[in-house]
Amino acid sequence: MLTLIKQANIFSPRHLGLCDLLIADGRIAQIDASIELQGENLSLEIIEANGRLLVPGYVDSLAHITGGGGEGGFNTRTPELQLHDAVRGGVTSLVGALGTDASTRSLGDLYGKARALTDDGLSCFMYTGSYEIPVPTLTGKVRDDIIFIEPVIGIGEIAIADHRGSQPCAQELARIASDARVGGLIAGKSGIVMTHVGDDPQQLGLLFQVVQDFSVPLSQFYPTHINRTESLLEEGMEFARRGGSIDFTASTTEHILAMGEVRASEALARALEAGVPDNCLTISSDAQGSLPHFDEHDRLDGLDVGSISSIHEEWVRAVSQHQVAIPTALAAVTRNPARTIGLKRKGEIAVNMDADFNLLEPGSYAINSVMSRGRWLMRDGKITAKTAFDY
Ligand code: ZN
Repeated sequence: MLTLIKQANIFSPRHLGLCDLLIADGRIAQIDASIELQGENLSLEIIEANGRLLVPGYVDSLAHITGGGGEGGFNTRTPELQLHDAVRGGVTSLVGALGTDASTRSLGDLYGKARALTDDGLSCFMYTGSYEIPVPTLTGKVRDDIIFIEPVIGIGEIAIADHRGSQPCAQELARIASDARVGGLIAGKSGIVMTHVGDDPQQLGLLFQVVQDFSVPLSQFYPTHINRTESLLEEGMEFARRGGSIDFTASTTEHILAMGEVRASEALARALEAGVPDNCLTISSDAQGSLPHFDEHDRLDGLDVGSISSIHEEWVRAVSQHQVAIPTALAAVTRNPARTIGLKRKGEIAVNMDADFNLLEPGSYAINSVMSRGRWLMRDGKITAKTAFDY
């Protein structure tokens, strides 16, 4: 089966302009100003894009696919991610992670959920480990998890500068990062260490110390929640200037913003303005993570749940409210995260890449259609993806 998209305004994320795009066997086979196909018995679907934007499917480098939270008692455990929510949010590749709780939640469950999302049409990967040290694993070793378990691309979220973490020392963190690195080298994966950064004043100090005292490259670490405060944003920019990738969290609430968080779109704009190389900047959703809210006496009075569609909203906001160029804003949710976490056929519209893309309405950027690995998961605003329970 071939699919030919006619006259789409393609952002690879680079702007390619109006082109036709041919999809064969789940991959992008050809991109040209005009593609005409002839032949009898050709199984060909032709889609008129009518100038809609065609952008890479979003790559979400951090989503709590089995749920997160649980920090206010068992009834605050957040629910797992639904396939349809990811599709509606334009996310075609994502990386699942445990979080604070590796006791009532497990890596086995995470693995099962990642495989289920992939079977249902997405490309879902996972981090081994959790906030905790010693690191929980599936095989008994970080290195072996990365080498032998196909969807495991690295480790995370390892918590630093957070009261919910294990307060690792530099030596421990260096050993974990080296294990992940060697596992990655052997398996041809990134072996990235997705690092949760909390709100302790130590900030990224431990990462800088590890890099200074041990032979671990700075780019092995991928710190997230860098938009948590103004001062962490400043330190994150320094980390990126030294060659690492930094990640901003898109899910937020008015309360969290009032506490000093910088919106991901604004953090992106500010980092660019400060001259940070744009290929070091990424935005992830932190989907299904818990977002506590408080009453006027600062007592917890409920929880919101992080949303996977927040990454679409934030790149669009970066364009419409902060004058970031479309290719630059898009790269933060497509090419940059794909490269940082080592997904070689994701995050770009180019020949031989996986056919993962979204069609967006011009002007509003509303998501009209979603294709993942050559399969339509949404067409003209209607979800076409089905789980085993949707028939
Ligand atoms: Zn986190």
